[in-house]
Amino acid sequence: MSKDLLSLDIASIHEGFRKKTFSAQEVTAAYLSKMEETRELNAYVLETPEVALEAAKKTDVRLSKGEDLRDMEGVPVGVKDLFCTKGTRTTAASHILKDFVPPYESTVTQKLWNSGAIMLGKTNMDEFAMGSANLTSAFGKTLSPWQIKDDDRRFVPGGSSGGSAAAVAAQSALVATASDTGGSIRQPAAFCGLVGVKPTYGRCSRYGMVAFASSLDQAGPLARSVRDAAIMLRVTSGHDPKDATSLTHSVPDFEKEMTGSVKGLRVGIPKEYQVGGLTSETSALWEEGASWLQSAGAEIVEVSLPSTQYALPTYYILAPAEASSNLARYDGVRYGHRVDGETLDELYERTRGEGFGDEVKRRILIGTYVLSAGYYDAYYLKAQKVRRVITREFQNVFTKVDVLLSPTTPTPSFAFGEEPTDPVTMYMNDVLTVPANIAGLPALSLPAGLTEEGLPLGLQLIAPAFQENILFQTAGVMEEAAEFQKKVKAMRSSS
Ligand code: GLN
Repeated sequence: MSKDLLSLDIASIHEGFRKKTFSAQEVTAAYLSKMEETRELNAYVLETPEVALEAAKKTDVRLSKGEDLRDMEGVPVGVKDLFCTKGTRTTAASHILKDFVPPYESTVTQKLWNSGAIMLGKTNMDEFAMGSANLTSAFGKTLSPWQIKDDDRRFVPGGSSGGSAAAVAAQSALVATASDTGGSIRQPAAFCGLVGVKPTYGRCSRYGMVAFASSLDQAGPLARSVRDAAIMLRVTSGHDPKDATSLTHSVPDFEKEMTGSVKGLRVGIPKEYQVGGLTSETSALWEEGASWLQSAGAEIVEVSLPSTQYALPTYYILAPAEASSNLARYDGVRYGHRVDGETLDELYERTRGEGFGDEVKRRILIGTYVLSAGYYDAYYLKAQKVRRVITREFQNVFTKVDVLLSPTTPTPSFAFGEEPTDPVTMYMNDVLTVPANIAGLPALSLPAGLTEEGLPLGLQLIAPAFQENILFQTAGVMEEAAEFQKKVKAMRSSS
């Protein structure tokens, strides 16, 4: 019974509640025991079973009174440890915040609780969301639940939302919150066989999210189906007076946008996304994805985004620049970890020296360098200009096509011990995801196929600003054509 509960989507859970087939407490208990069973993955940095059971009880009381089901009623959620949760420790997986208990709740999580969702715990991540493999967490690495037949190797879940992705893939959460500054929702989604959505910049409030690079950060869902992602995104979207960059555009019912048709839709294939390092399987899947859409009546158009090659270097100037400024607040005086010193400077130095991990220090160094008086024009200002050029190229392309299709990552997940050892090669993971952040555009990754060895591969859709509806419309059709779950079942039963 509890095994079956874990495979249900949000709609089926709600149907079960209505028919009284099971209670919210039963669903939550099933997820909590799965969480215990899969602890070796290190997907959670904090488990909150009491909070979960308490919330589930409330849902059951509502159900017994015959009250309406709210959108996320009784849905067990993993929360990336970057979202502040009132009274529950929030660390951003950094030693410097290891004892931080926020006195306030992030808007995204508050919206989830207001619509009946249940918090299972806080999920592991790269420290301050800087990383692509969940290897920089102060709580240690997270393992992907995916493995290759007759092979002992364990694989990275991707990053920075690696804990959230591992949890949803291992069924120790039905959905999870995540954040995407340069790919941190979509890349782990691709590595773990999930749907991940980075909405338009400003669609979701950033209030209460530990800041990495404020002009790029966006919250979004990780889910096992396009429909669940659509439901969760609707709930978490919308204007928030507490975040001046959250926009007032109305929030459509994304689920209704899944019309099942893409007839007449113009799908662009950006030729510059054929980057070096793209595996042949990824390339082949990209073509297959285009052919699914073509058979469903879409028009496939090759397009050009000539400045794509500059997106990654631009990102790795802008994101560290903003990070170095955002992270200046962790000085040992106001937050978290503190190491005393003889002088104030010494207190700062010791606190930050001990509190931050190597990758975070690297980003702060790069950031302060590109913002320093002598180099500001050459790096930061230049990167801002390139950002504008990249944004314009997208605007131009979207006069010709409605949506873009590309792979999410050049390669599938890699095994521990086989990860790139130099940071720059690691940064290459983001080459196909960062352009959407730079231009503030909505993008979605969906599981589209498996490698020969049986690891998931994702395809990415990018739409014009505030047109997440096109992402869901297109992804719904592709999800059906891809038959990802069927492929996984076939692979597992052949072993
Ligand atoms: N992997 C990218 C980085 O390390 C993106 C991280 C993110 O989106 N938070 O910066």
